[in-house]
Amino acid sequence: MRRIDKALRIAQELDERYPTTPIPLDHSDAFTLLVAVLLSAQTTDKKVNEVTPALFADGPTPAAMAALPVETILRHIRQLGLAPTKAKNVRRLSELLLERHGGEVPVSFEALEALPGVGHKTASVVMSQAFGVPAFPVDTHIHRLAARWGLSDGKNVDKTERDLKRVFPKETWNKLHLQIIFFGREFCPARNHDMLACPVCSWAATKKAVAAQDKKDRRVR
Ligand code: SF4
Repeated sequence: MRRIDKALRIAQELDERYPTTPIPLDHSDAFTLLVAVLLSAQTTDKKVNEVTPALFADGPTPAAMAALPVETILRHIRQLGLAPTKAKNVRRLSELLLERHGGEVPVSFEALEALPGVGHKTASVVMSQAFGVPAFPVDTHIHRLAARWGLSDGKNVDKTERDLKRVFPKETWNKLHLQIIFFGREFCPARNHDMLACPVCSWAATKKAVAAQDKKDRRVR
Protein backbone atom coordinates (compact mmCIF):
# COMPACT_ATOMS: atom_id res chain seq x y z
CA MET A 1 0.00 0.00 0.00
CA ARG A 2 1.34 3.46 -0.87
CA ARG A 3 2.42 5.55 2.12
CA ILE A 4 -0.12 8.24 1.28
CA ASP A 5 -3.02 5.72 1.12
CA LYS A 6 -1.90 4.18 4.38
CA ALA A 7 -1.86 7.63 5.99
CA LEU A 8 -5.38 8.33 4.77
CA ARG A 9 -6.69 5.05 6.19
CA ILE A 10 -4.90 5.63 9.50
CA ALA A 11 -6.38 9.14 9.73
CA GLN A 12 -9.87 7.71 9.12
CA GLU A 13 -9.36 5.06 11.79
CA LEU A 14 -8.15 7.70 14.27
CA ASP A 15 -11.02 10.06 13.45
CA GLU A 16 -13.51 7.31 14.20
CA ARG A 17 -11.86 6.44 17.50
CA TYR A 18 -11.02 9.96 18.66
CA PRO A 19 -13.51 12.41 17.17
CA THR A 20 -12.53 15.00 19.77
CA THR A 21 -9.01 15.82 20.89
CA PRO A 22 -9.02 17.41 24.34
CA ILE A 23 -5.63 18.80 25.36
CA PRO A 24 -4.22 16.43 28.01
CA LEU A 25 -2.33 19.06 30.05
CA ASP A 26 -4.58 21.29 32.19
CA HIS A 27 -3.98 24.99 31.56
CA SER A 28 -5.84 28.27 31.34
CA ASP A 29 -3.81 30.20 28.77
CA ALA A 30 -0.65 30.05 26.62
CA PHE A 31 1.64 30.73 29.58
CA THR A 32 0.27 27.96 31.78
CA LEU A 33 0.30 25.57 28.81
CA LEU A 34 3.93 26.44 28.08
CA VAL A 35 4.91 25.75 31.69
CA ALA A 36 2.88 22.53 31.81
CA VAL A 37 4.51 21.23 28.61
CA LEU A 38 7.95 22.08 29.93
CA LEU A 39 7.14 20.20 33.14
CA SER A 40 5.89 17.14 31.24
CA ALA A 41 9.35 16.04 30.01
CA GLN A 42 10.12 12.55 31.37
CA THR A 43 6.89 12.64 33.42
CA THR A 44 3.28 11.65 32.78
CA ASP A 45 0.67 14.29 31.98
CA LYS A 46 -1.34 12.96 34.92
CA LYS A 47 1.43 13.80 37.37
CA VAL A 48 1.87 17.25 35.85
CA ASN A 49 -1.86 17.90 36.21
CA GLU A 50 -1.62 16.98 39.88
CA VAL A 51 1.01 19.61 40.68
CA THR A 52 0.07 22.51 38.40
CA PRO A 53 -3.10 23.76 40.19
CA ALA A 54 -1.05 24.79 43.25
CA LEU A 55 1.86 26.06 41.14
CA PHE A 56 -0.42 28.18 38.95
CA ALA A 57 -2.27 29.50 42.01
CA ASP A 58 1.07 30.96 43.17
CA GLY A 59 2.36 31.89 39.71
CA PRO A 60 -0.53 32.41 37.27
CA THR A 61 1.36 34.87 35.03
CA PRO A 62 4.97 35.34 33.94
CA ALA A 63 5.26 38.30 36.35
CA ALA A 64 3.91 36.32 39.31
CA MET A 65 6.03 33.27 38.46
CA ALA A 66 9.19 35.36 38.02
CA ALA A 67 8.61 36.80 41.50
CA LEU A 68 8.61 33.33 43.11
CA PRO A 69 11.85 31.98 44.57
CA VAL A 70 13.12 28.93 42.66
CA GLU A 71 12.74 26.95 45.92
CA THR A 72 9.00 27.66 45.99
CA ILE A 73 8.59 26.45 42.40
CA LEU A 74 10.68 23.39 43.24
CA ARG A 75 8.51 22.64 46.27
CA HIS A 76 5.43 22.57 44.04
CA ILE A 77 6.95 20.29 41.42
CA ARG A 78 9.23 18.14 43.55
CA GLN A 79 7.47 14.89 42.66
CA LEU A 80 8.22 15.32 38.92
CA GLY A 81 11.33 14.01 37.17
CA LEU A 82 14.19 16.50 36.70
CA ALA A 83 12.46 18.87 39.15
CA PRO A 84 15.47 21.07 40.11
CA THR A 85 16.31 21.87 36.48
CA LYS A 86 12.66 22.40 35.58
CA ALA A 87 12.16 24.78 38.54
CA LYS A 88 15.11 26.91 37.40
CA ASN A 89 13.89 26.89 33.80
CA VAL A 90 10.33 27.89 34.75
CA ARG A 91 11.61 30.83 36.76
CA ARG A 92 14.12 31.97 34.08
CA LEU A 93 11.63 31.47 31.27
CA SER A 94 9.13 33.69 33.11
CA GLU A 95 11.77 36.40 33.54
CA LEU A 96 12.65 36.20 29.84
CA LEU A 97 8.99 36.48 28.82
CA LEU A 98 8.90 39.76 30.75
CA GLU A 99 12.26 41.00 29.43
CA ARG A 100 11.84 40.02 25.79
CA HIS A 101 8.12 39.70 25.09
CA GLY A 102 6.26 42.11 27.37
CA GLY A 103 5.02 39.26 29.54
CA GLU A 104 3.35 37.45 26.63
CA VAL A 105 4.10 34.04 25.16
CA PRO A 106 5.52 34.72 21.68
CA VAL A 107 3.75 33.19 18.68
CA SER A 108 7.03 32.14 17.07
CA PHE A 109 8.89 28.84 16.94
CA GLU A 110 12.21 30.67 17.00
CA ALA A 111 11.38 32.87 20.01
CA LEU A 112 9.89 29.92 21.93
CA GLU A 113 12.89 27.68 21.24
CA ALA A 114 15.18 30.42 22.56
CA LEU A 115 13.61 30.02 26.02
CA PRO A 116 15.28 27.72 28.59
CA GLY A 117 13.91 24.18 28.67
CA VAL A 118 11.92 24.73 25.46
CA GLY A 119 12.94 22.52 22.55
CA HIS A 120 11.28 22.12 19.18
CA LYS A 121 8.70 19.64 20.48
CA THR A 122 7.58 21.89 23.33
CA ALA A 123 7.42 24.89 20.99
CA SER A 124 5.37 22.84 18.53
CA VAL A 125 2.88 21.83 21.23
CA VAL A 126 2.42 25.46 22.29
CA MET A 127 2.13 26.75 18.72
CA SER A 128 -0.39 24.06 17.93
CA GLN A 129 -2.46 23.83 21.10
CA ALA A 130 -2.33 27.43 22.34
CA PHE A 131 -2.33 29.30 19.05
CA GLY A 132 -3.77 26.87 16.51
CA VAL A 133 -0.72 27.15 14.23
CA PRO A 134 -0.26 23.90 12.27
CA ALA A 135 2.57 21.89 13.86
CA PHE A 136 3.37 18.22 14.35
CA PRO A 137 5.05 17.69 17.73
CA VAL A 138 6.77 14.31 17.61
CA ASP A 139 7.46 12.60 20.92
CA THR A 140 9.04 9.18 21.25
CA HIS A 141 5.64 7.44 21.04
CA ILE A 142 4.65 9.14 17.79
CA HIS A 143 8.16 8.52 16.47
CA ARG A 144 7.91 4.81 17.20
CA LEU A 145 4.39 4.41 15.83
CA ALA A 146 5.20 6.31 12.63
CA ALA A 147 8.03 3.82 12.01
CA ARG A 148 5.90 0.76 12.82
CA TRP A 149 3.13 1.97 10.56
CA GLY A 150 5.61 2.55 7.76
CA LEU A 151 4.96 6.30 7.58
CA SER A 152 8.58 7.14 8.28
CA ASP A 153 11.88 5.31 8.33
CA GLY A 154 12.37 6.11 12.01
CA LYS A 155 15.86 7.59 11.66
CA ASN A 156 15.24 10.44 14.12
CA VAL A 157 12.38 12.62 15.35
CA ASP A 158 13.20 15.45 12.93
CA LYS A 159 12.91 13.13 9.97
CA THR A 160 9.70 11.61 11.39
CA GLU A 161 8.20 15.10 11.72
CA ARG A 162 9.07 15.91 8.10
CA ASP A 163 7.66 12.58 6.86
CA LEU A 164 4.40 12.94 8.80
CA LYS A 165 3.95 16.50 7.58
CA ARG A 166 4.39 15.24 4.04
CA VAL A 167 1.78 12.47 4.21
CA PHE A 168 -0.92 14.20 6.27
CA PRO A 169 -2.72 17.38 5.13
CA LYS A 170 -1.60 20.47 7.06
CA GLU A 171 -5.07 21.20 8.44
CA THR A 172 -5.10 17.80 10.18
CA TRP A 173 -1.69 18.00 11.94
CA ASN A 174 -2.93 19.57 15.17
CA LYS A 175 -5.56 16.94 15.87
CA LEU A 176 -3.56 14.03 14.44
CA HIS A 177 -0.62 14.37 16.78
CA LEU A 178 -3.04 14.13 19.71
CA GLN A 179 -5.00 11.27 18.13
CA ILE A 180 -1.79 9.25 17.66
CA ILE A 181 -0.84 9.92 21.30
CA PHE A 182 -4.31 8.79 22.46
CA PHE A 183 -4.03 5.67 20.30
CA GLY A 184 -0.60 4.82 21.68
CA ARG A 185 -1.80 5.26 25.25
CA GLU A 186 -4.83 3.06 24.68
CA PHE A 187 -3.30 0.30 22.59
CA CYS A 188 0.47 0.17 22.88
CA PRO A 189 1.66 -1.80 25.88
CA ALA A 190 5.34 -1.78 26.70
CA ARG A 191 5.80 -5.41 25.71
CA ASN A 192 4.19 -8.69 24.77
CA HIS A 193 1.40 -7.83 22.48
CA ASP A 194 -0.22 -9.23 19.41
CA MET A 195 0.20 -6.97 16.40
CA LEU A 196 -2.43 -8.92 14.52
CA ALA A 197 -5.01 -7.95 17.14
CA CYS A 198 -4.22 -4.27 16.80
CA PRO A 199 -6.62 -2.06 14.82
CA VAL A 200 -3.79 -0.38 12.91
CA CYS A 201 -0.62 -2.49 13.08
CA SER A 202 -2.61 -5.56 11.93
CA TRP A 203 -2.70 -4.09 8.42
CA ALA A 204 -0.22 -1.19 8.49
CA ALA A 205 2.87 -2.55 10.26
CA THR A 206 5.96 -2.90 8.13
CA LYS A 207 7.62 -6.33 7.85
CA LYS A 208 10.58 -4.86 9.71
CA ALA A 209 8.33 -3.76 12.59
CA VAL A 210 6.68 -7.19 12.80
CA ALA A 211 10.08 -8.95 12.82
CA ALA A 212 11.38 -6.59 15.50
CA GLN A 213 8.31 -7.23 17.66
CA ASP A 214 8.68 -11.01 17.24
CA LYS A 215 12.30 -10.79 18.32
CA LYS A 216 11.40 -8.68 21.34
CA ASP A 217 8.61 -11.06 22.35
CA ARG A 218 10.93 -14.08 22.08
CA ARG A 219 13.38 -12.32 24.41
CA VAL A 220 10.75 -11.71 27.12
CA ARG A 221 9.17 -15.14 26.90
S1 SF4 B 1 0.50 -3.43 17.39
FE1 SF4 B 1 1.30 -2.70 19.25
S2 SF4 B 1 2.68 -1.07 18.69
FE2 SF4 B 1 1.43 -1.39 16.95
S3 SF4 B 1 -0.13 0.19 17.24
FE3 SF4 B 1 -0.87 -1.80 18.00
S4 SF4 B 1 -0.50 -1.79 20.14
FE4 SF4 B 1 0.74 -0.14 19.20
